[in-house]
Amino acid sequence: MRVEPLYLSPSRIADWERCRWSYLLKYVYRWREAATGNALIFGGAIDEAVDAHLRGLLQGREVDPAEVFIAAFLQKADEGPVDYGAKWSEESMLAMGIELMKRWPDAWQAMGLTVACDATGEPLMQREVAFALPGNVIVRGRIDLGVFTREGDFAVVDSKTAAQPYPETALVLNEQLTAYQVAMDIAAEQWGLPKPERLGLIEMIKRQVPKRTGQGPTVEPLVLTARRSEQQVREYLQKILWIAEDIRAQRFTKSPRMAFESPCAMCSMARACTAGDYTDVDFSKARYVPAEALQACESPVAA
Ligand code: SF4
Repeated sequence: MRVEPLYLSPSRIADWERCRWSYLLKYVYRWREAATGNALIFGGAIDEAVDAHLRGLLQGREVDPAEVFIAAFLQKADEGPVDYGAKWSEESMLAMGIELMKRWPDAWQAMGLTVACDATGEPLMQREVAFALPGNVIVRGRIDLGVFTREGDFAVVDSKTAAQPYPETALVLNEQLTAYQVAMDIAAEQWGLPKPERLGLIEMIKRQVPKRTGQGPTVEPLVLTARRSEQQVREYLQKILWIAEDIRAQRFTKSPRMAFESPCAMCSMARACTAGDYTDVDFSKARYVPAEALQACESPVAA
């Protein structure tokens, strides 16, 4: 019997591991945040700016990534309510992005990378990829960059904005990069490129722009690691299959965990999960809406 496809991605898997209940709300019930998270619009605007700058370099055109960032960020911020939290505002995020994008061209040059192009001449940037596993499990993702290093090695690179640097000790385990290696190994021949010899990470660390002195946001130096071994790939794929099995068996549990590692403080569905308060939830695309939320919508309000 053919089973329905189950679509996973490195970020969905990370969400699952953070809290299975939040996975249920987000991907099964399809609840959305009523206000978009600031990290999402900031990261999206930075991606657009970097993409435009690198495409400009390939075409011999000068593109100011700070200008592209400003336009992209303001457009995204205007699309709906944004949750800036206690730490950020539109102005402070805009200032941080401009500062990062001013630093980006020199940082890119120092990395000594060349964007790889596929057999059709199209640069390998923001490229959608997917691979299938037994049991109709489809893993989808998007490779940020395929590059050649100074030494001529082909590498797949993930580019990220983050509050703090990824721990160096965990880089050899980073599963997003493992997923991209698997996808790229499959696509390599069709795209006329080698299988990746290295995996890399470019991080932009989000910090407030200091009023006078201080570090401010930074573009960290490129970090490269060796490609994953066959054993590491096997372990990763097995893990995905076990997760798929748990999702299909509906093993959804809440994961408040211990105080020092609780995901609840950062959870946008916390009020819905803990208090049945749905004011933070957008049900417009939901597959399931709790009866009490429906009643709240239907209750007459004072004019
Ligand atoms: S509040 Fe905590 S337990 Fe509830 S969905 Fe969010 S992370 Fe999971």
